Amino acid sequence: MTVDLHLHSKASDGTESPAQVVRRASRLGVTTIALTDHDTLAGIAEAKAAAAPLPIDLIPGTELSVDWPTGKMHLLVYFLEPIAGPLQDRLAWLREGRNRRNAAIVNRLQQLGYDVTLGEAEAQAEGPSVGRPHIADALVTKGYFDARSEAFHDLLADGGAAYIERVRLSAEEAISLARDSGAVPVIAHPYTIGLGRAEYRAAFRELTSLGLGGIEAYYPEHTPALRSHLASIADQLGIVATGGSDYHGTGKPGLEIGTGRGDLIVPDHVVTALAASRFT
Ligand code: AMP
Ligand code: ZN
Ligand code: FE
Ligand code: FE
Repeated sequence: MTVDLHLHSKASDGTESPAQVVRRASRLGVTTIALTDHDTLAGIAEAKAAAAPLPIDLIPGTELSVDWPTGKMHLLVYFLEPIAGPLQDRLAWLREGRNRRNAAIVNRLQQLGYDVTLGEAEAQAEGPSVGRPHIADALVTKGYFDARSEAFHDLLADGGAAYIERVRLSAEEAISLARDSGAVPVIAHPYTIGLGRAEYRAAFRELTSLGLGGIEAYYPEHTPALRSHLASIADQLGIVATGGSDYHGTGKPGLEIGTGRGDLIVPDHVVTALAASRFT
């Protein structure tokens, strides 16, 4: 059994459709996946339909960016069904915030001399969750850069010349909205939150008291030592050590579903533990 609980499709900034992602995962022998597009559940119905005839289980999910003082905190939310609900209803507000920010970024780019429009950026997206990766793709299409990552490096990365903030939920609010929606919130790729190894435990204990259900320990960018450190913290806190590749198709080169950069192993007991966390 192979598990991958962090995947993106064209519903946000991945480069493959939800059905393509599901079929690729199944072809690679993966038996449980979660689709976690940024701020949207728009890909879930297609992914579920594609998974139905295959020997693969699909967990519906999303990935949110939440406010956090020391770094970039992303929250994966699992078992979030594409129906009305407290968190689901806030996703539209988050996407509106994205749209306002996208317009501001494009304005800034125009001021910097780049000939690019909001329409061109939106045309790069096939789903409702449009963001910096699509603006980067528009700049690539216009010939300014060879790859999405180069546009990030020169302009769009946090703090870059064309970087603009967008609205986010607080970590506390996102966690409680997720629980109120019957879903399980998990801290994504903790290496980005700006804490040292010794600081994770206290931060995650606090968030666990608010309803956090897991920590994404098994992640391509985490060293083996960090993976086991985070897994042992999850153990101590009585929450789940999860994992996934953060596959984005060609949008994030070098990653494969199920195996990441070749050394990713997400234990399959994670899936039952995560499912049980819905009811704790
Ligand atoms: P946004 O959601 O619009 O703020 O864009 C953030 C997303 O852009 C991340 O979740 C990644 O998928 C992608 N991203 C961030 N940094 C880079 C980079 N250096 N190269 C390519 N994609 C990136
Ligand atoms: Zn992404
Ligand atoms: Fe993320
Ligand atoms: Fe992600």
